[in-house]
Amino acid sequence: MTNRIPLAAVLGHPVAHSRSPVLHGHWLARYGIAGHYVPIDVAPDHLADTLRQLPSLGFVGANVTIPHKEAARALATTSTDRARAIGAANTLTFGADGAVHADNTDGHGFLANLTAGALGWNAASGPALVLGAGGAARGILHALLGSGLSEIRLANRTRAKAQRLADDFGPSIKVIDWDVAGDALSDATLLVNTTALGMAGQPPLTLDLSNLTPVCTVTDIVYIPLETELLKTARACGCHTVDGLGMLLHQAAPGFEAWFGRTPEVDDDLRRAVLGE
Ligand code: NAP
Repeated sequence: MTNRIPLAAVLGHPVAHSRSPVLHGHWLARYGIAGHYVPIDVAPDHLADTLRQLPSLGFVGANVTIPHKEAARALATTSTDRARAIGAANTLTFGADGAVHADNTDGHGFLANLTAGALGWNAASGPALVLGAGGAARGILHALLGSGLSEIRLANRTRAKAQRLADDFGPSIKVIDWDVAGDALSDATLLVNTTALGMAGQPPLTLDLSNLTPVCTVTDIVYIPLETELLKTARACGCHTVDGLGMLLHQAAPGFEAWFGRTPEVDDDLRRAVLGE
């Protein structure tokens, strides 16, 4: 593989919307690395074949996105502890022998973004309220628990899905009803929206924010728009807010480093490039 130009990809279905090619392309150009990162639309039935073929074509790794995250983890030869705990992968590294190593960097990206942007927040400061129990929530809960947070109140429209996460991740997760989630805000120091609500084209998030206090850091993993209505209202309340774009940028860094051998920087230049500014 040493004489080959390293290739990496994002595998999804659909995949045209992915910002990952712009993101990795920016880093490749910035560091003058002879490599390429391309989007590949892979139907679910073809994922296993694709993973078998990519290493021999010169691919050193790939990101995987919807709907392949769980299947890629299950197909991998080896997985990190966090990918196993989350039950899904977003970053694959290929060995020269075709072995597929799976990692999940979503939680890492979330936490790196939160700690970089939320100056007043730390895990010991108090309970968190997390909204949503989908794929992204699993990675975020895993990372928040790993940071030492001792109480996470979890609300999801479909309560049974939140309960499954609590069963998987242990007693620090307290499931609360979606309809009264706002009640859990009075002493919360962190509010995280992991649902799709508030995203362009999706319904609004109608959480009662009357108990929100300025000591609560508020972050939304939706980043289209960059400032969601949740973040706008929280900012008006005096809360520190952190937008979701940084999560996307930070989750990409471990893959880039593994594939192209350089620790990339997450900075304003990268944000502008990914926003198309
Ligand atoms: P997912 O697995 O499909 O989960 C979607 C979540 O949103 C579930 O909790 C679902 O509740 C909730 N939801 C959807 N529509 C709802 C509605 N009308 N009312 C109440 N709840 C609703 O998706 P995901 O992968 O977790 O992604 C969630 C969002 O995060 C997406 O907008 C995605 O673009 C964004 N995201 C951002 C990043 C980043 O890097 N910033 C990374 C990953 C994802 P139910 O369980 O009741 O259906």
